[in-house]
Amino acid sequence: MKQKDRHHLHLLCDVSELIALLTVSEDIENFLQRTVDMVARHMDADVCSIYLYDEKSEELVLRATIGLNPSAIGHVRMKIGEGLVGITLAELEPLNEGLASRHPSSEYFEEIGEEPFDSFLAVPIRRGTELIGVLVVQHKDRDYFNDVDVMVMRGIASQLAGAIGSARLLIESNLQKKDQTLEFSEEQTVKFAKGKMAAGGQAFAPSIVFEKSHAGLLDEHQDECDEESKHSLADFHRAVQATAEQLKEYQERFARRLPESAALIFSAHLMILKDVRFYHEMEKKISEGVPPAAAIRSVARHYTELFSSSAHAHIQEKANDVKDLAGRILKNLVHKDEIDPTSRRDRIVIARDLYPSDVLRLASEGVKGIILVSGGATSHVAILARSLQIPLMITDEPLLLLLPEDTLVIMDAENGNIYVKPSEEVVKEYQSKEKALLAQEITSKDIFPETYSRDGFRIRLLANINLLRDLKFAHEMKAEGIGLYRSEFPFLIRSAVPSEQEQFLVYKQLFGEMPGKDITIRTLDIGGDKLLAYQDLKGETNPDLGLRAIRFSLHYRDIFHQQLRAILRAAVGAKTVQIMFPFISSLDEFFEARQAVYECMRSLERENLIYHQQPLIGVLVELPSIVEIIDELAAEVDFLSIGTNDFVQYLLAVDRTNEKVVHYYQPYHPAVLRSLAKIVKAANKQNKKISVCGELAHEKDFIPFFLGIGVRMLSVYPKFLPSVQNIISNLKICEAEEYTQRLLSEVTIKGVQRTIDEWGKSYPAI
Ligand code: PEP
Ligand code: MG
Repeated sequence: MKQKDRHHLHLLCDVSELIALLTVSEDIENFLQRTVDMVARHMDADVCSIYLYDEKSEELVLRATIGLNPSAIGHVRMKIGEGLVGITLAELEPLNEGLASRHPSSEYFEEIGEEPFDSFLAVPIRRGTELIGVLVVQHKDRDYFNDVDVMVMRGIASQLAGAIGSARLLIESNLQKKDQTLEFSEEQTVKFAKGKMAAGGQAFAPSIVFEKSHAGLLDEHQDECDEESKHSLADFHRAVQATAEQLKEYQERFARRLPESAALIFSAHLMILKDVRFYHEMEKKISEGVPPAAAIRSVARHYTELFSSSAHAHIQEKANDVKDLAGRILKNLVHKDEIDPTSRRDRIVIARDLYPSDVLRLASEGVKGIILVSGGATSHVAILARSLQIPLMITDEPLLLLLPEDTLVIMDAENGNIYVKPSEEVVKEYQSKEKALLAQEITSKDIFPETYSRDGFRIRLLANINLLRDLKFAHEMKAEGIGLYRSEFPFLIRSAVPSEQEQFLVYKQLFGEMPGKDITIRTLDIGGDKLLAYQDLKGETNPDLGLRAIRFSLHYRDIFHQQLRAILRAAVGAKTVQIMFPFISSLDEFFEARQAVYECMRSLERENLIYHQQPLIGVLVELPSIVEIIDELAAEVDFLSIGTNDFVQYLLAVDRTNEKVVHYYQPYHPAVLRSLAKIVKAANKQNKKISVCGELAHEKDFIPFFLGIGVRMLSVYPKFLPSVQNIISNLKICEAEEYTQRLLSEVTIKGVQRTIDEWGKSYPAI
């Protein structure tokens, strides 16, 4: 048994440990270098190298080596299929050559100095279909590597694939930074990038890269910083006091802009600050002679490690709060000023990742737009930006993070384009679009308080509300009520479940802003892509079909009851309160949820608390299982609303966030149209209110269809209210009905589309 065989198990363990470190370290070169050192040592190899595949140039690039000439790192490049390394990636199989120089594809790169090595073993690194690179070991003896070595190398490659694949963006941006050893030059800059829209709009402004403001202050090596050791206990107390004041000030500032979220984010920090263990541990260390900065870091590190190692997502999340808070105290201790927030005013902010609290902060600073250079925005970051009316795009272009401050950028979220230092032509085009948009902007004067079709049918237009600040806009756009309040926002934005009282205060504002109008509150809809930071749902392999929405509420009864009680209490004095359950799949489930409302009413009664005595209880139709039981369900409910976003997704079994199948997301599918018609017919037959609140409700091709099947109430995001009113007032219901009959007689998606196109031509006013 060769010496190296004994090392194999250790090697795999050590590599996995290294990989764990990668997630907390941003130093990719170091990571790669430590990996090759370790692999070479354990395998008793003379050489170990990692080549990474660069998707842009379609080349493999030497990124780390031990045993070859280190100055070749970043310079030796080969195409897929070129040389032994290139062949390994082309064939996606390990290549074990006892005498490499005899291989017909062997190539000698002079600058590497690999000639003296006869044995060559390479394994591809890939993750799924994604090509990541090649891991190579070499030895000067012939026939040195055996089958066990091949297996072990495969094991390491697969471990590396996960880590490198996830950190790819980081790696690329860091390595590209390194490759551009000199100043950021004109040729190396990015001129154009594609991105995905997360919140619509466009912006033209100087850019600024967003750095997490005080994260770096927690770095360990800062402990030795001389400048910091001169601080005293009194300085520490001053820093804590300043931190508390800042947090309170933030809280107040956001309370005006985003009432339901303000107290939520910063109060978590204030609570940690007040926690005796956190504060006193620091104080104690300082009294024992530890410099305050080091004491803050050490206590913060202790808690972040403790929280991070928890198996529960909601506890792990607290590590971020501790980091954020400790960084703030440090900053106040060393008097490093916060970046002047006005410096981000009217800028396009480019960021690697953002927390919801960052989005709030940027909004309050008056930024023009946000570009996120990362894998994706969580739905609450995107929806927050939408409600705050800040254009937000997500792109994979890491070079954007290197843009010097004040580089002019145009972001056009609607079309997914980002222009860096745009040409005159692009600027002109932007400006003319901007002008057209301004001209189109409808003021509240242009909107009528009531909506009628051209032949006099009364249609009620309601607003979808995500954040309380949308209320003002809904009011201006003369919404006749709230057709959908997405109550999960106060839950999504913060790091703990809001209490009954906190929810009560949020709902109170809903009723207060729209007195005398119908208000529909949808109970908590989380799960799927709307995950709570503190709810451990990681175990679900298929969250879209998992413990979502009403299923979550029925599972966590205490959370459900708190919400229902808060709604019932807040609705006192309101004309109507409609409680709507999302994701109902059966009558049984509806009965169970309705029963919970009755139980809450009884408990409020027992406690002598006042509450709304006659809530209307209804269902958000989102699941196809409802279609076949709609007559019976309609008989039971007080009202129905159709959530077309999910309804189409579940009826057609297509994930609408998955770009590969997005063309299957076809609301024009005859099955969708016929199901919708059936639902509306059943509701009307039972004289039950029915509305549509999914995105289709504001689409010009769908509005005539909805009116044609008998919908008389639409709920849309406030900004769409004017255009929806305009479309309806140009329509005659009798014509819409005739059009709908034609649509319903079609059996193919194409046929439906043809009918829609013909109709569009005959109705040019819309
Ligand atoms: C829907 O599914 O259409 C809906 C209104 O709910 P959400 O978009 O919040 O999932
Ligand atoms: Mg939905």
